[in-house]
Amino acid sequence: MERRKSGNGNKKNEASSSVFWDGLRAELEEAREGNLYRSLRVAGSGSGLLNFSDNDYLGLAHDPRIVQAFELASHQYGVGAGASRLISGTSLLHEQLEKGIAEFKKTERALVFGSGYLANLGAVSALVSEKDLIVIDKLNHASIIDAARLSGATLRAYPHKNLSRLEAILRKSKDFRRRLIITDSVFSMDGDLAPLRELAEIKNAHDAILMVDEAHGIGVFGKSGRGVGEYLDVEDEIDISMGTLSKAVGAMGGFVAGPRELIEYLVNFSRPFIFATALPPPVMAACLESFHIIESAPKLRMRLWGNVREVKQVLLELGFKLGETVSPILPVLTGDEKKALELSRALSDEGIFVPAIRYPTVGKGKARLRLTVSARHTEPDLQRLFTALRRVRKLL
Ligand SMILES: *Cc1c(COP(=O)(O)O)cnc(C)c1O
Repeated sequence: MERRKSGNGNKKNEASSSVFWDGLRAELEEAREGNLYRSLRVAGSGSGLLNFSDNDYLGLAHDPRIVQAFELASHQYGVGAGASRLISGTSLLHEQLEKGIAEFKKTERALVFGSGYLANLGAVSALVSEKDLIVIDKLNHASIIDAARLSGATLRAYPHKNLSRLEAILRKSKDFRRRLIITDSVFSMDGDLAPLRELAEIKNAHDAILMVDEAHGIGVFGKSGRGVGEYLDVEDEIDISMGTLSKAVGAMGGFVAGPRELIEYLVNFSRPFIFATALPPPVMAACLESFHIIESAPKLRMRLWGNVREVKQVLLELGFKLGETVSPILPVLTGDEKKALELSRALSDEGIFVPAIRYPTVGKGKARLRLTVSARHTEPDLQRLFTALRRVRKLL
């Protein structure tokens, strides 16, 4: 594509702008050649594709009760919040949801952010800075890494679930002011769980703070759906709990839950909270309804896990490699980026949407299909998936 030259005839500007655009084009070309190019694809309602890719684990995003709560609130409260909550006052629904989340998580308080990404950014960048240390698992979500970078704290990563390396880092870092260990509870691209009990013991032994990202745990794990903390019975040991409202909760937003002082501190010092407009009140109403359902409907969770068991068994029977997943996230490992793309395309030709996951979401040469199962999938849905999987298996 030819770029028009800038009008003022300034040679120097022309040169610098062509360096700019040529640079972008070259990087895109490089991504294409490495099978790492990404583009947006229409899926979901109206696309004709059966979706096995999202994190709507309980099927609540389309639940009529939640849609109705959203609709009613939109008539009463309008669609936009108008400004950040410290500027324009907070809506009753934001207050109610935060109270509801705190009760649900059995913490003193909770604070809602614009997304899960922003909740991590908002909590971590406020709580630690140059004098402090953040220690993370190498496979933690990108939002935690970005949060750590924004905070200015020193960041150290230990190899996936390698606790002796974590301990070695903690032994050698006593001079930092604050030390924060952060982990995903369910690893989002592998579907395995963090050893939260052992992490809690380590953080106690070294007087560090433990923050757990329950993005894929909420609604899915634990008898009441409170997450992996509940499932492993270590909730009391988690100092800071973070979750999203965009996965099993089915809507949009993120939250941080913990002691009163933590939330007070974030309201005062968390820039992604202070300087961003609040989420629309109807979204808060939808989430409130969703938490009621999550708490009171173990049947939905049972259906989800029934589906997970069935799909996992068929995938293994067909010879797909799944890694160590114990969650509704079923990574079909290909290693090769091109192969992952081919499998994803072939499934799409069969009417099934499962995305190829490549670098930098996972390491180079660790490509995979990320297949997720939901309570909303019916038995005929699963049969359609199995038929498609049998047809594409030869591409492996
Ligand atoms: C998805 C995800 C987030 C970000 O949440 P959003 O609500 O999508 O912004 C944070 N952490 C983990 C582990 C996630 O999987």
